[in-house]
Amino acid sequence: MIVLLLSLIFSANQGSAVQVTFPDEPEVKSIEIAWENKKVPAFHVQDRWTTVLGVDLDAKPGQHVTPVFFTLNDGRIEKREAVIEVEPKKYPTTELKVDDKYVELSKPDLARANREAKETEAIFSLISPEMFWNEPFSVPIPGETGTNFGHRRIFNGQPRAPHAGADLHASTGTPIHATNRGRVVLAKALFFTGNTVILDHGLGVYSLYAHLSRIDVKRGDVVSNGQLLGLAGATGRVTGPHLHWGMRVQGARVDPFTLVEIGK
Ligand SMILES: [Zn+2]
Repeated sequence: MIVLLLSLIFSANQGSAVQVTFPDEPEVKSIEIAWENKKVPAFHVQDRWTTVLGVDLDAKPGQHVTPVFFTLNDGRIEKREAVIEVEPKKYPTTELKVDDKYVELSKPDLARANREAKETEAIFSLISPEMFWNEPFSVPIPGETGTNFGHRRIFNGQPRAPHAGADLHASTGTPIHATNRGRVVLAKALFFTGNTVILDHGLGVYSLYAHLSRIDVKRGDVVSNGQLLGLAGATGRVTGPHLHWGMRVQGARVDPFTLVEIGK
């Protein structure tokens, strides 16, 4: 029995993706991390084990002691611990003006929005036990930056959910590219996000592209990093044309740019 006393510490802001790595050991066959009631596999990449964990916008600040299960070549399972140190992050409040029908929902619109929220949450709760990507995440509109992730929002005077993505400047017709290799799991019009594409990148990592004027992929397609998904537009709840780019990691709402930072 190998007893390891050191525990690994990783720190991350509320609303970010964090890369977790473990050194290579010849007797280790596989590694699984029990993160926020979910099981996230690690992958053997070059000379280490690695995976990405999502720290939600509203994750509790402080030390999250996280069990890590090491399966050894002889079949034994060793439980160790990693510590995810969640740092609090303050996000500003923004006030927005949109078409009233997106704030005072009609009965059918409310039913539709609720049904679609269930559908997308069901997608984000699945953890595909593979890592579909093997290069760093890229920005869907190269060179663009977005700074409004996490903003607490007031629509037409009424508070709504915080902004779970980054808005990138784009005029209607701007080409939108896949942030990384993945599988299309949704490609259709939704009430709030308009024409929407969701990609599954594996390990519980999903990207979402909203308000498109045109969708150029279909459910089931496997797309490469940078592949054209569609064109920017102003469909759904918007104040004007732009790209809303969201990333979910094991269900957690994270700033998409924190994934771009990983692997840099
Ligand atoms: Zn947005």
